[in-house]
Amino acid sequence: MRILLASLLAAAALPALAQTAPPPPPQPSAAEQAYDTTLVARLRDAALSDSMAWEITEGLTTEVGQRLAGTEAEARARAWSVKRLTAMGFANVRVEEFAMPVWERGREAAELLGPYPQKLVVAALGNSASTPAGGVTAEVISFPDVAALAAAPAEQVRGKIVYIGHAMPRTEDGSGYGVFGAPRRQGPTLASQKGALAIVIRSIGTDREHRNPHTGVMNFAEGATPIPAGALSNPDADQIERILARGQRPTLRLTLESRVTQGRSGNVIAEVTGRDPNAAPVLVSCHLDSWDLGTGAFDDAAGCGIVAAAAKRIMEAGTPARPIRIVWFGAEEVGLFGGLDYRARHGKEPHHALMESDFGADRVWKVDSRLGAERAIEARRLQRVLQPLGIVPGSLTETDGPDIGPMLADGLPGASLQQDGTRYFDIHHTPDDTLAMVDRKQLQQNVAAWTASLAVLAGPVEQRPAAPRRRRR
Ligand code: ZN
Ligand code: ZN
Repeated sequence: MRILLASLLAAAALPALAQTAPPPPPQPSAAEQAYDTTLVARLRDAALSDSMAWEITEGLTTEVGQRLAGTEAEARARAWSVKRLTAMGFANVRVEEFAMPVWERGREAAELLGPYPQKLVVAALGNSASTPAGGVTAEVISFPDVAALAAAPAEQVRGKIVYIGHAMPRTEDGSGYGVFGAPRRQGPTLASQKGALAIVIRSIGTDREHRNPHTGVMNFAEGATPIPAGALSNPDADQIERILARGQRPTLRLTLESRVTQGRSGNVIAEVTGRDPNAAPVLVSCHLDSWDLGTGAFDDAAGCGIVAAAAKRIMEAGTPARPIRIVWFGAEEVGLFGGLDYRARHGKEPHHALMESDFGADRVWKVDSRLGAERAIEARRLQRVLQPLGIVPGSLTETDGPDIGPMLADGLPGASLQQDGTRYFDIHHTPDDTLAMVDRKQLQQNVAAWTASLAVLAGPVEQRPAAPRRRRR
């Protein structure tokens, strides 16, 4: 009886279904299907034993180390990159330079003078004002979040050092960085407008156990006087909050020295020549600069290793239909200077797709793209060739990436291979961002995903005929 009822219901539902069911998605041609299941699959699977991405990540973080934007260290990184990309056999290796303001940290210290005198671990945020010699000393006034600071009367804040808590949770997609990053982005301006002497925030990082402060850029709103702004490591923020919970009013001496100069940065660009050199290129990118606390392995030497290794693997296999343009952007961390310079020079030129790897070195778990309705077949092919790597199909209308963000906002097409960000904000912008954090197996999975993506988006790759065997004499 139950079966009968179910089939009756199903039959009744049929006409409605027939009216609303969407048309089946468009299918790739037989030639495209054959290409995807043979050459693309072979290139993808071979990349699972890639060593080039590791060699680049290891080389850049060992031979250059930290690469703060606009400094001589970042200039050394550009020289290193030109040499490496040229040695790898890429075409048109070049640097597009630009001028920019350079912020550099100096001496840093935070010390509670009372009620329980002790040292804390702090790092200045990018663009923090410098404290005078001897630092600033004041009572700490605490706020749970930016909204509470915004609501506080100025007379409560004036002459004090503002502290904001607002601990950030771990998430796979890293989305906590948006809302929980507000104390860094808005806190310094608000504190300055209310007359605070300085501000320290709880680190915008998810490592709650280690005494690693988390840096990052912030900008004062127009008209706001820059004040010293730093981040306490999470255990030190806990310490402040425990003291406040005892009803105490801690006094802090804060030293955050820094200087601002003028410098130069630049984008390092290299290419894989396509069969049609006039075809719109597929742009694959990362950023070459890093914060100065670690060696910038996760953020973002690994990204540079991943995209260059994938492009090299395509070049070794043969000639793609379209050019592949590798861009290692300069000065991302301090305000997307490289992405904006590239956009000013090339943003009006057609690009087949924009892609960027800048979320560490852990495995890709989802692919998003925005190639346009007319390229639905290509977008679905991209999803299919990535599935054997355990990558789930994501959005077909949304994509992202920091340096390429402004050009994506202009409407250029793009794709993003979303990495597992569960531990990204434990490491990112802290002294722990070193090669020790890079997991080689997961790095290789990234290279496989990028290689397969390039084989589709820049493809088809025309294989080089095998070299004739020399007869031994
Ligand atoms: Zn980054
Ligand atoms: Zn970063």
